[in-house]
Amino acid sequence: MNEGTPLSQIRQRIAAAAKVARREADDITLVAVSKTQPVEAIHAAVVQGQRVFGENRVQEAAAKWPPLREANPDVALHLVGQLQSNKAAEAVALFDCIHSLDRPSLLTALARAMDAEGRQVPCFVQLNIGEEPQKGGCAISDLPALLSQARSADIPIAGLMCVPPEGIEPAPFFAFLAKLADDNGLAGLSMGMSGDFETAIMLGATHVRVGTALFGGRSTA
Ligand SMILES: *Cc1c(COP(=O)(O)O)cnc(C)c1O
Repeated sequence: MNEGTPLSQIRQRIAAAAKVARREADDITLVAVSKTQPVEAIHAAVVQGQRVFGENRVQEAAAKWPPLREANPDVALHLVGQLQSNKAAEAVALFDCIHSLDRPSLLTALARAMDAEGRQVPCFVQLNIGEEPQKGGCAISDLPALLSQARSADIPIAGLMCVPPEGIEPAPFFAFLAKLADDNGLAGLSMGMSGDFETAIMLGATHVRVGTALFGGRSTA
C-alpha cells in the first residue's frame, strides 16, 4: 500500500474504499486541492495524470492557473472555497465547477455572470451541515428555497457539498448530506477531505476534495 507517489496511493485508497462500498472507483472524482501549492507541484500531478484540481481563492487561482490551463486544456478547475458575490464574474470565467454556492445573493450574482459569459458552470450547494454559527454554508432549512431559486435562474446544480464540524466523527454528517441530496433528487455529493475521504466514499461521495494527503502540508490555508 505504500508503493508509489502520494497520488497513486490516494488513487489506491479510493479504489479500495469503492470496492468495500460496492461502487465503481470511476464514479468518484478526486479533486486535488492545490491551494497554496506552487505551480511545480501542480504540474507534477498533471504529469501523473491528475485532471481535476481545486483552489479556494479566486485571486490565487487567477495568478497560478492561466498558463497551466493553456498547456493542459483537458484539466478541470474547481472552486472549493467561499466566494464573494463581487468575484462571481471572475469565478465563472476561471472555474469549471463551484462547490460553494450557499446564499441567494451569490446565486443572483452567479446567474448574472453566467449570462454575461455565456457559460454555464455547475454548482454544488454548500450546506452548513453541523449548523455551526461561525461557518459558511446554506442553513438546512433554507435549502429548498435556494434550490428553487437556482432552477428559476437556470443554474445547473451538481449536488450538495459540506465540510463537517472539526474534531468529531464525520460519518453522521456525510450520511445526512446524502439523505438531503436524495430527498432533493440531486446526484452529486462533494464530501470527504484528507482525513476522512474513505468514510465519505462509503456514504456515497461522488467528489472527494483532497489537499494535504496529496501535496503535503501548507503554510497557510
Ligand atoms: C483545503 C480544503 C480541502 C482540502 O483539505 P485537506 O484536509 O488538505 O485535504 C477540502 N475542501 C475545502 C473546502 C478546503 O478548503
